[in-house]
Amino acid sequence: MIYIKVDEDLCTACELCYDVLPEIFSDRGDGIAIVKNYRQEIIQENLDKIEEVAEECPADAITIG
Ligand code: SF4
Repeated sequence: MIYIKVDEDLCTACELCYDVLPEIFSDRGDGIAIVKNYRQEIIQENLDKIEEVAEECPADAITIG
C-alpha cells in the first residue's frame, strides 16, 4: 500500500499540488494542502505525477511511503 502525507505545518499554500493533482490533493480551506483521496487505484494511476509534485513542492511537505 502506498501512503501519501502532507505535513500541514510545512506547507506554504503555494497551490501547486492541488492545481496539478486535484484527484489527490485539496485545499483544506485556507490554502494549506491536504490529501483527500487515499484510494490505491487512483494513487497508482497518478504515481508519476505525485512523485513529481512531491519533488517540486517548495516546502518539501509531501511524503510518499
Ligand atoms: S506543493 Fe507543497 S507547499 Fe505547495 S500547496 Fe502542496 S504541500 Fe503545500
